[in-house]
Amino acid sequence: MDPSTDAAPEISVLVPVFNEEGSLPALFSRLSATLGKMGRSYEIVFVDDGSGDATPRLLREFAAADPRVRIVEFNRNYGQHAAIFAGFEEARGEIVVTLDADLQNPPEEIPALVAKVDEGYDVVGGWRENRQDPLLRRLASFLVNRITAKLVGVDFHDYGCMLRAYRREVVESVRQCREIHSFIPALAATFARRVAEVRVKHDERAVGRSKYNFYRLIRLNFDLMTGFSMLPLQLMSFFGFGVAIVSLAFAAFLLVRRLIVGPEVEGVFTLFAILFGVVGLLFMGLGVLGEYVARIYSEVRRRPRYLVRRRIGTLATAGRRATVERTPAPANRRRPRRPAAPCGRACRAV
Ligand code: UDP
Ligand code: MG
Repeated sequence: MDPSTDAAPEISVLVPVFNEEGSLPALFSRLSATLGKMGRSYEIVFVDDGSGDATPRLLREFAAADPRVRIVEFNRNYGQHAAIFAGFEEARGEIVVTLDADLQNPPEEIPALVAKVDEGYDVVGGWRENRQDPLLRRLASFLVNRITAKLVGVDFHDYGCMLRAYRREVVESVRQCREIHSFIPALAATFARRVAEVRVKHDERAVGRSKYNFYRLIRLNFDLMTGFSMLPLQLMSFFGFGVAIVSLAFAAFLLVRRLIVGPEVEGVFTLFAILFGVVGLLFMGLGVLGEYVARIYSEVRRRPRYLVRRRIGTLATAGRRATVERTPAPANRRRPRRPAAPCGRACRAV
């Protein structure tokens, strides 16, 4: 592509970034080298998810040096998946590749994913070989992947890998979805007709720390479970039904025993243990119910999924007070978008 034109590129690479100043320079140079070698038109969309370090400055330097770089800056941190939603709004390529900014996903793997999309697949997922994350996290991921594959009905081995390629039709379908809490790889898989996986390398995080602490991981997994299935609720009902049957049988047994053996007090502590167990499970059930209710509540409030503070190098800046992303775009809204802002690429806040 002639970088000076505003024609939609063939490939958009979309990178959510949250406080990644340490890895950004290496990421940008490796990404540019890989994409340059592919000989296809491209753009790189960085979504700055409310970084408080040097990330915004570095991204602006990249945009100043390369007109194919576009930046969406959030006003605060909304999370990786909200950032990808925003990137999907912005990306214009026929193929959209998502990638982490911390270089755990080597950019050099992108050509393999794009080649697979060229073969006719709608979504191509990276499958991390020798995953370089702590053992406990890998174990939890294995479980979550198996459950997600069952819930979504698409047998990806590695839903957690963000190195993925999407065909434009799938991106458009995801853009129609208005839910606030979601898990993009699973959401996209529900719209894909043909999916494939490509084994990709996975490196240790060289700089900085994972942005996911235990609590954020749990929240993300609840998003995944509640967003794609009613199974947790159904399990609660099944469990309740099971306990009711057992307790009825137990009551009958106690009655008969009372008639035969007479009054007795043994076993009372066993009953306590059972009672505590059941009460615990009951609270767990309430918690699961609460997860659904809380999500319904946050959806009905209809607050914006994220607020954009500034767009840089985008075509959509002219006349657009585009701070709120919530109005569903029509299904057929396709690029190319509006002409470039008169202020050129280093645009004002919108
Ligand atoms: N990220 C983000 N917003 C967040 C958390 C993470 O944009 O609130 C980005 C982060 O900068 C990185 C990617 O999402 O590019 C994956 O994050 P991280 O490496 O911390 O996750 P992990 O590899 O531990 O799953
Ligand atoms: Mg990482």
